[in-house]
Amino acid sequence: MTFLQQLQKLLRTPVLRLTLWYVLIVMVISVGFSLFIYNQTTAQLREDFIPRGRVMQDFGDPFTEPIRTRVQALFEQQYELTTGHLRNQLLIINLAVLAAASLASYYLAKRTLRPIEESLEEQRRFTADASHELRTPLTAMRSEIEVALRNANTKPEEHVDILRSNLEEIHRLEELSRGLLRLARSEVDAKAAAWDITPVSAIVDDAVRQVMPHAAKRHITLDRVDITGSWRGNKHSFVELLIILLDNAIKYSDEKTTVRLAGETSHRSVTLRVQDHGIGMKASDIPHIFDRFYRADSSRTKNTVDGYGLGLPIAKQITERFDGKISVASTIGEGSTFTLTFPRA
Ligand code: ADP
Repeated sequence: MTFLQQLQKLLRTPVLRLTLWYVLIVMVISVGFSLFIYNQTTAQLREDFIPRGRVMQDFGDPFTEPIRTRVQALFEQQYELTTGHLRNQLLIINLAVLAAASLASYYLAKRTLRPIEESLEEQRRFTADASHELRTPLTAMRSEIEVALRNANTKPEEHVDILRSNLEEIHRLEELSRGLLRLARSEVDAKAAAWDITPVSAIVDDAVRQVMPHAAKRHITLDRVDITGSWRGNKHSFVELLIILLDNAIKYSDEKTTVRLAGETSHRSVTLRVQDHGIGMKASDIPHIFDRFYRADSSRTKNTVDGYGLGLPIAKQITERFDGKISVASTIGEGSTFTLTFPRA
């Protein structure tokens, strides 16, 4: 690649292009301002210096013609010197502005573009993860069907097995697309949602009612302590958030255990805790569980629990939208406690 091509490639990078725009704007202002100052000052100097010789002439001064011409020439020389000096100074100032503007613009351009680049990178990762998750069941289904079609001796019972297995994969795909849709919607919904003052006990009532069938299926007892106080935000979003935590607590617990809902109210905030005695998580997993598609090893290796790692990212989105905090404490093999804290209404 020639030097010119390399330069062209470099100039195509967004940071440098934005830098150039910033520098251009600053330099247009700086050069314009300098020209204005130069014009004003030289006009003033011309008025001050040049006419002095002529004034002497007009008033019939006692100097002889050669002296007058000499004085006039001296004034003009002085004028040239002063304007030349001014030109140099303005040039140096503009060069200094150019250097400072280039550095500052590069720094600013990087700062301006960083969040955009991060969000693009996140979108790219999300798309790659989502297509990977979509491809896995599709590949499994395709290879099962291909093998069955290739083998002319496949028995009818085997066909039924294949259909059953494909149906399972279809259920998984449906769950995934529901999760993706929920994730895409939750941010928009939470933003558009009306804010209300909702008693935490009402949120708990709704969420518990909705997860009860899931808990009953696994013979898990939901134990709740009455919590006073209210949260400010959207009730529907709060219920959705609590359902995610309760569903996980039920999913990642052994049968016949207890999931406990407790909390406390201070004069600034209301805290709600969802505590289970399930499989727990490794400390190294905890920083990642709010990332999209992240599933902790304990659930992945067990491979018995359905999920796509999309629940907690939604929970986090909702929590942040309503100025809350979500945290988790967990010990592998002992259980996990998720804590939600929102400002008290
Ligand atoms: P999903 O449960 O669908 O996999 P989530 O985003 O809700 O996705 O959770 C991400 C991961 O965090 C889960 O895969 C699991 O490994 C871990 N996790 C979440 N809640 C619990 C819990 N109560 N107990 C143990 N692990 C949990």
